[in-house]
Amino acid sequence: MSANQLAILGGTPVRSQDFQIRKTLGEAEKKAVMDVLDRGDISLFFGSPGPFFLGGPTVKEFENTWAQKYHFKHAISVNSWTTGLMTAIGACGIEPGDEVICTPYSMSATATSILFYGGIPVFVDIEPETFNIDPAKIEAAITPRTRAIMLVHLFGHPADMDAIMAIARKHNLKVIEDAAHAPGIKYKDKYVGAIGDIGGFSFNYHKHIHTGEGGLLVTNNDEIAQKSQLIRNHGENCIEAMGLKDISNVMGSNYRLTEIQAAVGLVQMKYLDDYISHRNRLAKYFGAKMKNFPGITPPVLKDGCEHAYYVYALKFDEKIVGVSRKQFFAAVAKELPQPKIWEQIPFVEAYIRPLYLNPIYQQQIAMGKKGFPFTMNPGVKYNYAKGICPTVERMFEKELFHCPLIREAVTEKDLDDVYNAFEKVYNNRHLIKDIG
Ligand SMILES: *Cc1c(COP(=O)(O)O)cnc(C)c1O
Repeated sequence: MSANQLAILGGTPVRSQDFQIRKTLGEAEKKAVMDVLDRGDISLFFGSPGPFFLGGPTVKEFENTWAQKYHFKHAISVNSWTTGLMTAIGACGIEPGDEVICTPYSMSATATSILFYGGIPVFVDIEPETFNIDPAKIEAAITPRTRAIMLVHLFGHPADMDAIMAIARKHNLKVIEDAAHAPGIKYKDKYVGAIGDIGGFSFNYHKHIHTGEGGLLVTNNDEIAQKSQLIRNHGENCIEAMGLKDISNVMGSNYRLTEIQAAVGLVQMKYLDDYISHRNRLAKYFGAKMKNFPGITPPVLKDGCEHAYYVYALKFDEKIVGVSRKQFFAAVAKELPQPKIWEQIPFVEAYIRPLYLNPIYQQQIAMGKKGFPFTMNPGVKYNYAKGICPTVERMFEKELFHCPLIREAVTEKDLDDVYNAFEKVYNNRHLIKDIG
């Protein structure tokens, strides 16, 4: 049996040694947490007007440090980015029956945040190059009920903000940026997150940096910032004391980050620039190799954009390659060590299923059983049928694949093995045509 025999056909794999899992916490976090514990104030938030309405000193320091470093007027921490997105929707004044234009290629919370305020997500297809919402298709989806655009800087590549902001200004729409994949990167000299009206970042364990769970809203708009702070922390209790005139959507919840998480966040944010540089270095190294396969397209980096490489996404053209994406990656997986956790998977087929295919849109049952909020506008029917966004469906079903290994703890040498596995399968792909 030759060394070139594919592992899926009984040959020897290219590599058996596990890819190293990144270590996300160290002594500095331990010390920061212990300092908070020694102080004894795990959270100092108070759910009514007063000195602790905006939290304790570590929460405030985390917010201020982030705001200063990345040039945002306001940063407002929250206990997850899901609650951050909900807060952003509320702070933008979305109300039952309002339509919000949304990308279908994102984590579910991007769209469910709209539903939580009774808003109705209207999905607009993505660009096939960046996988972000396609500005050329937004205007056709605008109706008299449209109030906002919810976009994602997917995988860490900025959405086309100039085009999106121009449409938003023309139609008087708010713009919300889900920048969960893109902390600390710029679009044309501005950090993403608050180029629109409000946006922010996730600090769950899977993101570039984390606080266990957590998130951060950023905005340059004073009113939106204040409403966000109210929603985060029982704003209903502040109406009289703060003399609020517009009390819509002020009713709040408890989305407060603890002092412990903020202390971890302050340490973690120091790593972010290095992580992004490392990922960019790996992406460049890997991209130079991966561009040599007909039918395989490495990610683009558009003019004026920086990339955070949350994951490294490529495209697969089965017509040119001659086998399906599924067949191909089943064979590649056999050449490389079996992953123990998600981050060790060399290649993942597609990303998330287009959001509108989720049963809550298919059956139009989200809040309660009567169809709210999809039934809010008499005579208006919402269409979430398969086929409404052909590009995202094609990416999901056939073309997109991504490499989670463009990250910390992975080296150029590791990527050589990944490349060799890919090349071995590519060169022998005629042998797997009939498998699977
Ligand atoms: C992770 C993520 C979220 C949700 O963030 P959490 O902090 O886990 O609540 C939202 N949108 C996108 C694009 C994400 O990747």
